[in-house]
Amino acid sequence: MDFLKLGIIGHPLTHSLSPLLHANLLQLLGLAGEYRKYDCPPADLDALLPTLAHQQVRGLNVTIPHKVAVMKAMDWLSPEAALAGAVNTIVFSRSEKNPDAKNPDLYTLKSYNTDITGFMRSLPAGVLHDLPQSDLLVLGAGGSARAVMTGLIQAKTASITFAVRDPLKAISITSDGEMVKQTYQSPTQLNLVSLDTLPCLSAFQGLINTTPVGMYPQEAQSPIPAHQLEALPLQAWVYDLIYRPIETRLLSLAKAQGLITANGLDMLIYQGICAFELWSEMNVPAHFTPALRQTLENALQLPSAP
Ligand code: NAP
Repeated sequence: MDFLKLGIIGHPLTHSLSPLLHANLLQLLGLAGEYRKYDCPPADLDALLPTLAHQQVRGLNVTIPHKVAVMKAMDWLSPEAALAGAVNTIVFSRSEKNPDAKNPDLYTLKSYNTDITGFMRSLPAGVLHDLPQSDLLVLGAGGSARAVMTGLIQAKTASITFAVRDPLKAISITSDGEMVKQTYQSPTQLNLVSLDTLPCLSAFQGLINTTPVGMYPQEAQSPIPAHQLEALPLQAWVYDLIYRPIETRLLSLAKAQGLITANGLDMLIYQGICAFELWSEMNVPAHFTPALRQTLENALQLPSAP
């Protein structure tokens, strides 16, 4: 295989773990390649993609703030990415000549949302199994909440209630969710509530934080206060998409209550593996995952974490 040129576009990109993850994947699979950070302010986004294509870049991850804005430059969106309304992975495909593509002589820009598969693969088996009987509370309604919603609807989760600070601003998540429901013939009930008037949490079997509240360096914050969390049933689980810190304030409060908890590290690993498989067209063996997780956990514990 040719030298595999990969990278990530976002702004700012100071704390991304993706370069470490993909450098390890290249090494584990014995591939020659590189994974570079392309810090790109929104105004430079349109010019960057053709430049990278001419440099023979094969694939990119996309992160904040470009996950939605980059969609208009794509020649092809995976059905899941179109439904989620956001992409996190781009493949510069040179094997197909598409006469309608925006850059027909050079490449076709294909895009995917591997956050959906990454999130679903990171869920414990028992949680996955129970989704059709589970009423879930999702905090936030941004890009990652849409990926989470798409996966949960595919799995026919009983209901998802989004809690947001401004329901009017977030209304499109439930209307777009209705299309996802139709596509997957799913009965999932979708609700939108204000964080200020959150119903009692005793009715939920799981809570997922998709807001950045509690993320480094605001580690003392929790997206909901301890007294509200206490109403969750004893068998409930709490999942925080944040992985820096490894245990957020929300997760430590939930753990203190004896609830099952999970952080966002496995989602990060699985979305990265899915992206890597798209770029390399190789399968990443499952037995690589524990070593990858250990490497990332070690890096997060360093005082100079990436
Ligand atoms: P996003 O598109 O900006 O969405 C963030 C959401 O959080 C929005 O609904 C936003 O509401 C809400 N929010 C922000 N600050 C808030 C506050 N102080 N109180 C209440 N709600 C607040 O971001 P994203 O891409 O979804 O990412 C969100 C988090 O998920 C980040 O921490 C990111 O690192 C993490 N993430 C992890 C993975 C993984 O692999 N583990 C993957 C993707 C994302 P407004 O619209 O009102 O601002």
